[in-house]
Amino acid sequence: MRFITDAMLGRLARWLRLLGFDTLYYSDISDSDLLRIARRENRFILTRDTHFLRFKDLKDFLLINSNNTLDQLIEITRVLKMKKFDLARCVKCNGMLDDVVEKADIEGSVPEYIYLKLSKFMRCRACGNIYWEGSHMKSIST
Ligand SMILES: [Zn+2]
Repeated sequence: MRFITDAMLGRLARWLRLLGFDTLYYSDISDSDLLRIARRENRFILTRDTHFLRFKDLKDFLLINSNNTLDQLIEITRVLKMKKFDLARCVKCNGMLDDVVEKADIEGSVPEYIYLKLSKFMRCRACGNIYWEGSHMKSIST
């Protein structure tokens, strides 16, 4: 399942990435551009904008009711009957995360106490951002 969200759903987009879903988000995008990208890339549209209701032939979209990110996620999982989540994407750029096999590779890239304490790290293939257990919540709350 691939998503594209409207400009009002940036926080939700980051959560979906964190949960492993390929999710596009632009802070400034017109309805027509969003529609064009969704159709071209076969993406499901998530929106809070009732404008989309006027596109009668549009099937793959969900009008999100809630204001709260957690409630929005619950809405999506319920409507789309989604069950399985895993941490697989970079919340910053939507890139895929790889497990870091050689811990020594990332020495100096994360705080030293984290490096010494933990053994499992992941790195974004696209931007190189490094994740470790517990870092997800922190990066999503900013
Ligand atoms: Zn990234």
